[in-house]
Amino acid sequence: MGKERPRPLIAGNWKMNGRRAEGLALAKAIAGGAGGIGAELLVCPPATLLATVGEALAGTAVALGAQDCHPAPSGAYTGDVSAPMLADLGCRYVILGHSERRAGHGESDALVRAKAEAALAAGLVAIVCLGETEAERNRGEAFAVVARQLAGSLPVRASGANMVVAYEPVWAIGSGRTPTGADIAALHGHLRAELAKRFADAAGFRLLYGGSVKPGNAGEILAIAEVDGALVGGASLKAEDFLAIARASV
Ligand code: PEP
Repeated sequence: MGKERPRPLIAGNWKMNGRRAEGLALAKAIAGGAGGIGAELLVCPPATLLATVGEALAGTAVALGAQDCHPAPSGAYTGDVSAPMLADLGCRYVILGHSERRAGHGESDALVRAKAEAALAAGLVAIVCLGETEAERNRGEAFAVVARQLAGSLPVRASGANMVVAYEPVWAIGSGRTPTGADIAALHGHLRAELAKRFADAAGFRLLYGGSVKPGNAGEILAIAEVDGALVGGASLKAEDFLAIARASV
């Protein structure tokens, strides 16, 4: 029997990659191959490519998202980009609290929550990332760490309609290593139960898995109960790999 759950989301995080010509070609190739795919498709290019990619994706089945936003709507924040600016460019989603920002920019749960508030206020859907480090996993703390991150990072008015949660074990990102299917199932079940403590529509939140998702493992990962899609880094930079992952989701 098939899983009763929201439409899967396959999101590509391009990170800090691509010049305009490359981004344009990648976006066009993804949009061109998106026909017949049941999952919702999303690409999140670097800020420099949002306008170019957004124009290429207009009228296609592929949504546009950003990789970060500032908590304030505007002001004296040199180098930052606000959620209303992203919405103005045609973004529907924004990734927040990616481990590369939590680690590389010292982002706390409270800051991620403030950014999520700003994203919701601008009408964006926030994809809040969380996940344990390898040391935390080895100490048996993975469940506690993600529960703490979830509690601290999601605003009160989060709902399945405006929020996606991405479980990304830090040690699996870009490493070629993934948790076992049983581990992912247990962790996602734990996140769902934690969501249910706070949100009446907990079942409506999409829970993505991220961390070394490739065409070769996507079918197995996406078939796991409570996995409602994937956040894909490296493999999202090749249209055929990203589309193969998306095709594995239905
Ligand atoms: C990511 O950075 O969100 C990610 C999941 O990366 P990768 O797929 O390359 O592990």
